[in-house]
Amino acid sequence: MIFDFDEIYAGVKKAVEVEKKRQFINVEGKSSNFSAFIVLSLKKFRHLLSKPDKIKLDALISSFETYEFDSLDFRIKAIDKLVQTFYEFKKIKEKKEAVIKKQNIEIEKIKEKEDSLNETDVCFVKGVGPHLAEILKKIGIRTVKDLIEYFPKRYIDYEGRIKIKNLEIGTNVIIIGTISNVSVYESKKGLTIHQITISDGSGKISVNFFYKIKNRKMINFYRQKYPLSSVVLAMGTVKKDNFTNKLTLDKPDIQVLGDIEDNEEENDFDGKIIPVYPLTENLNSSVLIKAIKNAILKFDEFLVDVLPPSVIKKRELISYKEAINKIHFPKNGDELVKSRNRLVYEELFIMQLNLAILREETKKLNSISLEIKEDGLVNKFVKSLPFELTNAQKEAFKEILSDIKSPHPMQRLLQGDVGSGKTVVACMVLLTAIENGYQGAIMAPTEILATQHYRNFINWLLPMNVSVGLFLGKNSAKTRREMLTNLKNGQMDIAVGTHALIQNEVEFNNLGVVVIDEQHRFGVNQRMRLFSKGKSPQTLTMTATPIPRTLALTVHGDLDVTVIDEMPKGRLPVKTSLTGASGRAKAYEKIKEEIKNGHQAYIVYPLIDESEAISAKCATEEKEKLEKSVFKDYKLGLLHGKLKPEEKDKVMADFKNKLYDILICTTVVEVGVDVPNATVIIIENAERFGLSQIHQLRGRVGRSDIQSYCILITGKVSGATKEKLSVLEQTNNGFIVAQKDLEIRGPGEFMGTRQSGLNEFSLFDFAKDIKILEMAREDAFEFAKTSNINDYPALRKTLLEKNLFKS
Ligand code: ADP
Ligand code: MG
Repeated sequence: MIFDFDEIYAGVKKAVEVEKKRQFINVEGKSSNFSAFIVLSLKKFRHLLSKPDKIKLDALISSFETYEFDSLDFRIKAIDKLVQTFYEFKKIKEKKEAVIKKQNIEIEKIKEKEDSLNETDVCFVKGVGPHLAEILKKIGIRTVKDLIEYFPKRYIDYEGRIKIKNLEIGTNVIIIGTISNVSVYESKKGLTIHQITISDGSGKISVNFFYKIKNRKMINFYRQKYPLSSVVLAMGTVKKDNFTNKLTLDKPDIQVLGDIEDNEEENDFDGKIIPVYPLTENLNSSVLIKAIKNAILKFDEFLVDVLPPSVIKKRELISYKEAINKIHFPKNGDELVKSRNRLVYEELFIMQLNLAILREETKKLNSISLEIKEDGLVNKFVKSLPFELTNAQKEAFKEILSDIKSPHPMQRLLQGDVGSGKTVVACMVLLTAIENGYQGAIMAPTEILATQHYRNFINWLLPMNVSVGLFLGKNSAKTRREMLTNLKNGQMDIAVGTHALIQNEVEFNNLGVVVIDEQHRFGVNQRMRLFSKGKSPQTLTMTATPIPRTLALTVHGDLDVTVIDEMPKGRLPVKTSLTGASGRAKAYEKIKEEIKNGHQAYIVYPLIDESEAISAKCATEEKEKLEKSVFKDYKLGLLHGKLKPEEKDKVMADFKNKLYDILICTTVVEVGVDVPNATVIIIENAERFGLSQIHQLRGRVGRSDIQSYCILITGKVSGATKEKLSVLEQTNNGFIVAQKDLEIRGPGEFMGTRQSGLNEFSLFDFAKDIKILEMAREDAFEFAKTSNINDYPALRKTLLEKNLFKS
């Protein structure tokens, strides 16, 4: 606040006192100083008043503007009015202050509550001792918040349960009942049989545990674990006991649900649903349920909403507190659905809000405005290419140009299927920077890719006197020093590189354009680091992983999207076929045939056991085998992830220069490698790959106007797997492939949860929750536009905690 009401009030009060004294002494005297002071004082806070108060104040001001010329009577009245008005204002002000103070207290309270949940160790929950805490830690539960957000993976509905009298031998069942009898006796074979009987009102079934004779410890252990009269949920296979001829439950999984005293009527479980949690060794469900119950009870008042009230109202969401209670302990399906939707919505809203805020903040930044000239570098470059740009490439560049003309950073994603020619467009955008006297940078996720871009750029740009440097982690100290100097003093125009580009010591002279290739392989922070090396440079992100629209919302919600939906002229769709091991010989024949025609081939082996080392070994062995047998008259190269970067580069360069006929490789060849002369790719154990990944691999061929082939060889696979893979035979469209992949495998393949900002124990299910995602997105973007996050401390804190946005 720029003025102090109290100060003005005190000043006016004093002036009034003086004036009053003066009036009585010198009735007819002038008092211009006084009235001027009052008018000035009143005007000082006029702008802070409501409209009716402003009118009141204006009347008062005008009465003091003519004060000197008024009669004594009038002047006394004016002063009375002044004092009275001031008194009123003071009251209003105090009221307002009280409200603000209350709000602040509320905010503080919310903060404290949030702190309590997120920063309170799970040990503070009743029933969670150090031992249990240690077990919980193993499944990722550290804080109270983790515990209450450890959601059931499914539920068991009491109503749907089977009554004991209806059990059939050989079936797997879930029953719920009371332990009505416990007996321990010795068998002839010298074992102790510990038998518990479960009854549910309709019948009885026994469960036997066996252990060595007279083991006191075991007897006590089972006595304590399954006490008489406790209510249990038992899952197992129904069998007939050989000796007693009675029903028994074999290899049962028994959870103690509670004591009989907890349930007024023994068998009245109707309308109750039991949560089933993902468990781990030494963690049983009843202990976990108790801990969750206790946490919810004890921290009840801390379960506050972080969502803005406007959103809760608009979407008619139940409160966080209710949702947490009901997701664990729903009474019916309706409650469960409502709670789940509420929690999924919150998760998605926060994720989308992060994207929305990022977008709004970036919009406000000032960037440079870039345009191209008729006879400038960009047009010169396009003329120098041995091919004509496709219409889609032209359109994409046009869209980008209109973005970068505006003096705010571009936020665009260039999406295009493998081989659609994104690199050329990227080069044009970088050249736009050079043409305008700025530098450009392009970052790629792997050394192979960065090196390939570098080679392309050198070929294209050296004749035009544009200097290009390649930044890799392995650069020698001397090279690196030289390059850093050139970059800093502006002698280097374009920097190509891997993560090596975002290291602190890399400084640009005036970075104007940033391109990020395969952007989904970088986290937001990495992208921001390159961005911050210039003064809000124009930024283009690219991806060859076609992403269905709905998923694009999730991952790239903050970006405008341009799609290159056309392949360069003359490209023939890759012919794809699916075969078992029996087709391998024929596939090898195909390779020989293509090599005879002067072409080259890839044979790809899958990632085995998640280990690049094992895969590398496998590829190495296969290469040795092939070299000695079918391909003994051919030159074979080997590329895998265990090679040193410079070895990889050499292999790729040699392959490109046709020193090899066939490249035996692992999936390191997946992204972006460009050898147009390669026309066959064999993918071994195709069933181990995702559809989109195969599509990427397949994109290594078909990069010229020669017909190319992709042969998928599978091991022994089910009909369903064959059907899944056959999608690749049917289409060359990456979007269709990706959509199918998404349906089959969910979004995990497209985005790590870390990068997406989803919770660790996310409830979000891509197949089910698209509608909620769309709602959350709409609301979050609307909220980011119209509200200030700083007015929502709890929400702000949540975003900060997820490290999603930097204050
Ligand atoms: P992407 O990065 O989109 O997978 P690239 O930019 O690597 O594709 O282009 C694939 C190949 O097609 C490269 O050899 C490139 O030189 C070539 N190419 C790009 N645009 C065209 C075009 N308009 N006409 C013919 N060939 C093109
Ligand atoms: Mg590419």
